Amino acid sequence: MANGKDFYATLGVSATASADEIKKQYRRLAKQYHPDSNAGDPKAAERFKEISEAYGTLGDPDKRKQYDEMRRLGAFGGFGTRPSGARPGGAYSARPGAGRPGGAPGGGAAFDFDVGGLGGLGDLFSTMFGAGGRRARGPEAGQTVERTVEVPFRTAATGGKVPVELEVQEECSVCRGSGGAPGATSKPCDECSGRGVISFGQGGFAVNRPCPACMGRGQIPSERCPACSGAGAVRAKRTVNITVPSGAESGLKVRMKGQGGRGANGGQPGDLIITFQVQPDRFYTRDGLDLIATVPINIAQATLGSRVSVRTIDGKKVAVRIPAGTPSGRRFRVPGQGIEKEGKKGDLLVEVGITVPENLTEAQQQAMRDFADASGLPY
Ligand SMILES: [Zn+2]
Ligand SMILES: [Zn+2]
Repeated sequence: MANGKDFYATLGVSATASADEIKKQYRRLAKQYHPDSNAGDPKAAERFKEISEAYGTLGDPDKRKQYDEMRRLGAFGGFGTRPSGARPGGAYSARPGAGRPGGAPGGGAAFDFDVGGLGGLGDLFSTMFGAGGRRARGPEAGQTVERTVEVPFRTAATGGKVPVELEVQEECSVCRGSGGAPGATSKPCDECSGRGVISFGQGGFAVNRPCPACMGRGQIPSERCPACSGAGAVRAKRTVNITVPSGAESGLKVRMKGQGGRGANGGQPGDLIITFQVQPDRFYTRDGLDLIATVPINIAQATLGSRVSVRTIDGKKVAVRIPAGTPSGRRFRVPGQGIEKEGKKGDLLVEVGITVPENLTEAQQQAMRDFADASGLPY
């Protein structure tokens, strides 16, 4: 939150240093970290940028005065050298009432400071807080990945795992997210002067957005990373085994923490949200925790009675007695062979479907004719 920069610390001078001391110190550091004498050292380049930025404010008497004023107001909660009386808090905690009378009440803007009275303070803010640029180079959380996953009926009924191939945005492993080719040097982005953000005025404030030229990094590599074309991220496929709970139904969502897109620059990975879509089964349907298995029997079995063998969802075989004179669609209950969910267990309902025999042998045809004759039925 409090990402205001301590320009005095950056230059290694005290807050009471004279203009001359600041200038001398800046020259010494600038010489030490100048890119010309540190070719290929991104840390030196970064340091040089910070030094230049700090001097850009502290080396200008007016800007330094404004900066000191904001320090005094405690706008930078992160500073260890906060003067006594300054209010602790984050970058956004400073309000007109905290020390400046006459400030306009906050109107939804990011800062409640009375910017108008301080001239170019808006620009100064954007320089110091550099929000977009800082964020872009700091830890970034990975994206939340959402997927609908088809689950075989039996897996959903008994519980199990389904492999899911996911396409996620991952930090490029070749350049570790920097976007530069291995061994490439980097220089501050011309477009944003190395800040990583572009400012544009809006209602008296400078609003920042990430610089499109350098993608918010503030640095342009001398050669782009060939693996990611300079984006710093690549689409990658990963196979994840998803646990399907017993009794899962279509529409059930499961959030898997940290299984989504990988974070950048050490950020937390995103989550994966899985929506299950249970596929229909040839043999079973489901009614709550009960399973319904449709079993075909022929007309003789239905008429005379029979025993049929039925496979349970676990693959066991159970025998079901079909009494004589069973009509099509009648159900027979096999207790405890349904779906188990949250300690409850349903039953297996065996539903018989009477099939009409085709391709009868001559003997079978004769038997059917005898049956019809005996019943006085025309055929
Ligand atoms: Zn790369
Ligand atoms: Zn840029």
